[in-house]
Parts: sequence; structure tokens; C-alpha cells
Amino acid sequence: MKDLHLPHHHGEETQLPALRRELEKTDKFQIIADVFRQLGDATRVRIFWLLCHCEPCVVNISAMMDMSSPAVSHHLRALKASGLIVSRREGKEVYYRAADTAQAQLLHQMIERVMEIACPEEDAHHGA
Ligand SMILES: [Zn+2]
Repeated sequence: MKDLHLPHHHGEETQLPALRRELEKTDKFQIIADVFRQLGDATRVRIFWLLCHCEPCVVNISAMMDMSSPAVSHHLRALKASGLIVSRREGKEVYYRAADTAQAQLLHQMIERVMEIACPEEDAHHGA
């Protein structure tokens, strides 16, 4: 890392080495940007939020969302590719739910905090 001298002097110089070290991790920032791009669509946010609370099949998601199955499948594929949801096959049916990852749990909480809505499973997963 080359020494950088900022064109303006507003007092950031002491933090500069640490900030630049993090800013150079562009791959990591890209991961965040990809996740937010997934959730940059209100329908996808609704599906993801739904799957944080139950594990339905495509047909039931379609009914709950009042959307066609192909449209829902399209969103499910995108969410699955991003690792935000997982699927489980049982017989002919495939069931979907939010991934059991810290990232998915944070997004779940973020959605509810931003929307200021109550989580139907408040006691179960947000702690006391
Ligand atoms: Zn919730």
C-alpha cells in the first residue's frame, strides 16, 4: 500500500491506514453488494421474509404471495444462488426456507427493524 496523502485536511489522517486496509478488500464489499442486490426487489424481500418463518413448497409460496409458480421459482433460484435460502426435497415436493446462517438471520432482523414490524417468532429467535 502506497502512502496516501489526502487532498483536503479534515482530520481523517490518523484513521487513514486502517480505513484503507478495509477499503482494499473489494471482494468482501462485493459480497455485501450482491446480497443487497438480491434484496433490491420488494418481491424477493417478501419471499425471503416469508421463508424466515416457515418452510413452504413453491405452490404454497405462490398462493401466499398471490403470484404464479414460475415467477416464484425465478425468485427462489436467485435467492438460493445467493445462499440466502436453502431447499429440501421430500418425495415430489421441494420445500424452501431461509438459510441457517448469521447473514440470513441478520437480514431477517434488519428487514423487521427497518419495517418496524413485529416478528411472529419474536421469542423464538430474537432472544429475550
Ligand atoms: Zn421474524
